[in-house]
Amino acid sequence: MVQVRIDTAGDGPILVWLRRDLRLTDNPALDAAVSTGRSVIPLYILDETEGVRPMGAASLWWLDKSLAALGADIEQRGGRLILRRGKAAEILNQLVAETGAAGVVWNRLYDKASIDRDAAIKADLRGQSLSCESFNASLLNEPWTVKNGSGEGYKVFTPYWRAAREHIGEVHVSPAPAALPAPAKQPASDGLGDWNLHPTKPDWSKGFSIWTPGEAGAAERLQAFLASQVQNYDKRDIPGVEVTSRLSPHLHFGEIGPRQVWAATRSAIAAGDVPAGQGEKFLSEVGWREFNHSILFHRPDITTANFRPEFDAFPWNRDDAAFKAWTRGQTGYPIVDAGMRELWTTGFMHNRVRMIVASFLIKHLLIDWRQGEAWFWDTLLDADLPNNVGNWQWVAGSGADAAPYFRIFNPISQGEKFDPNGVYVRRWVPELSNLPDKLIHSPWTAAPHLTPAAKRTYLRPIVDHSQARERALAAYQSLKGG
Ligand code: FAD
Repeated sequence: MVQVRIDTAGDGPILVWLRRDLRLTDNPALDAAVSTGRSVIPLYILDETEGVRPMGAASLWWLDKSLAALGADIEQRGGRLILRRGKAAEILNQLVAETGAAGVVWNRLYDKASIDRDAAIKADLRGQSLSCESFNASLLNEPWTVKNGSGEGYKVFTPYWRAAREHIGEVHVSPAPAALPAPAKQPASDGLGDWNLHPTKPDWSKGFSIWTPGEAGAAERLQAFLASQVQNYDKRDIPGVEVTSRLSPHLHFGEIGPRQVWAATRSAIAAGDVPAGQGEKFLSEVGWREFNHSILFHRPDITTANFRPEFDAFPWNRDDAAFKAWTRGQTGYPIVDAGMRELWTTGFMHNRVRMIVASFLIKHLLIDWRQGEAWFWDTLLDADLPNNVGNWQWVAGSGADAAPYFRIFNPISQGEKFDPNGVYVRRWVPELSNLPDKLIHSPWTAAPHLTPAAKRTYLRPIVDHSQARERALAAYQSLKGG
């Protein structure tokens, strides 16, 4: 880790403003604060007042558990996590005044709203002669470091990842500090429970209990993945088998950093414990996360605007009934419905199925990708601005290095190809569980076998595949015709 000295006058504590770096291991801002030898105040601010996009309901559930775990880890080391709710700039100033802090440190975020806010706060704090430094905890390469021959950010993944890998160099992971000395007089903290971060109306979070938010849960997940599932990572497109890492919410909240993932995977490959092909493929997926951060950094408008402006004239369809059927997993296409029900129940959806359901919404229903992106944002535990926006635009064909619009997934053949024995569909759409494998992705052809519950949704899908395909291609043609 690069050690950065913090110049501070006086003997006040250092405020460590934690955001999406909810861990003690390999946390450069925390390390820098501890290395001053002063007392440390770890702080989390729930800021819903700024231009930064507010977290969705599922993310707030995760945050609640993650902060509880982090608070306990900090206490074990003699410190205390301070929680405050409100405008970050004001709260930091209040805390500086209350504690006589000599400096403030944090790890960087890369969306424009956060960058603008953080720059203003840094200028303000430095203007008050406080020491203020920021660090990189959440990327292998920060977005401005990997550039193409013209000095711009890459727009295509393969050359991006080739160049990005070269930049990574040797990766050192710093251990968690042994102690986090607290100041003699602690500032007041909100109670986590008083923040009421669980979803209400409805509280659908019961099924989220399969997850273990927090740094320890993240480390266990990585270890378990490298010890077993990675061996079958080439089956990552099969939703019926669990071979991916499920690290995405942990990575989003920074309970584990990509340097840790990189170092552990590379050393498992070097030791011969993980086949190089499987391990490298996994790391290239982590590379997509980096690529999406880079794209969003260079094109901050694409959280709502199409990366390719020619899509601005796309004739989207406003169809609230169809959208509702999609969100509830009642489209009449088993693989789509299984994915949407997995999402609602667990806060997660398998990557291949995310592509299928997104394609169905955009192309079969002609519903604007932004509506789907918003639903995912509210219901995914791993909701992540660069990844969600990047992937939705990838599916829509409007994004950087995107799938061409005219490649329209057939939800029947996608199901037959990636869930050939219906394992995934049977898990999430139990009313189809008695169907034979060969009919499970087209249940309307199996009317006599259908239960009354299945008949309600599966006798007539909300759109006919062939007609929807023709309609989507015509819409795309109209766009090209201008
Ligand atoms: P693994 O296969 O184990 O991959 C390891 C890590 O690499 C992941 O944890 C993730 O951080 C990263 N990664 C993997 N695939 C991708 C990808 N396609 N793009 C970017 N990073 C990737 N991922 C999110 O983290 N947050 C989102 O909000 C999100 N929204 C998505 C929306 C759509 C429409 C689609 C098609 C994909 C979306 N993804 C999103 C990407 C991907 O589906 C998840 O990252 C992946 O399913 C997480 O499972 P895993 O951790 O087991 O992945």
